Amino acid sequence: MKLTVVGCSGSFPSAGSACSSYLVEADGFRLLLDMGNGALGELQRHVGLYDLDAIFLSHLHADHCIDMCAYFVVRYYPHGGGHLVPLPVYGPDGTEQRLTTAHADTPSDHAMGEVFDFHTLKPGSFEIGPFSVRTEKLRHPVETFGIRVEHGGSALTYSGDTGTCEALDELAEGADLFLCEASFVHGKEDIPDLHLNGRQAGELAARAGVGRLVLTHIPPWTDSGRNLSDAREVFDGPSELAVPGAVYEI
Ligand SMILES: [Zn+2]
Ligand SMILES: [Zn+2]
Repeated sequence: MKLTVVGCSGSFPSAGSACSSYLVEADGFRLLLDMGNGALGELQRHVGLYDLDAIFLSHLHADHCIDMCAYFVVRYYPHGGGHLVPLPVYGPDGTEQRLTTAHADTPSDHAMGEVFDFHTLKPGSFEIGPFSVRTEKLRHPVETFGIRVEHGGSALTYSGDTGTCEALDELAEGADLFLCEASFVHGKEDIPDLHLNGRQAGELAARAGVGRLVLTHIPPWTDSGRNLSDAREVFDGPSELAVPGAVYEI
């Protein structure tokens, strides 16, 4: 599997990064995890506009899904004309309605469903193209799913947004790469069922025995170096901050 960080800024874009979006590729299949603010622009550095094969949306907060409205335009009015096969989109209950409302001016109530083939996420295991995936509900103010993606004996886990929970430990168990949010600062913000801090991400990585920890979703107003050092105090495997354009072979 190849993972490309498209955007990794938490809650709102930074001067240097779009919000959450990660491209996972194997066997020529391209799965995008989240499409937050600014991600559609960055995505074009890595793949063509029409080269995605499936999209997973962890939850419906704008910093994880709002560029789907722009991507609707791209696919509803395809460059060069014609009609595109609807693109599979895996998201929480209400994804189609959320995007239709956010777009505010779709040509019809059904237009979003004409370009995207919506699948409602539930906890469990299923296939997306060549990937075996497992999703679990995590802890966040809206329905949120974490995902484990496996291919060729390797595993990648993406936390989405969440507070600490057993389900995330299970998804991360033994993963080769753990892409984990660290929005909060240890000792400064402690709100249950909302976000993790760097130390919690590190503790989780240690418990799960992951091969590599990549911290992501750090808001621009937060000292990311502090969150990384907090994680490193409790996790002694390889760890680093996600940066736009970073590529990992898993
Ligand atoms: Zn977020
Ligand atoms: Zn969120």
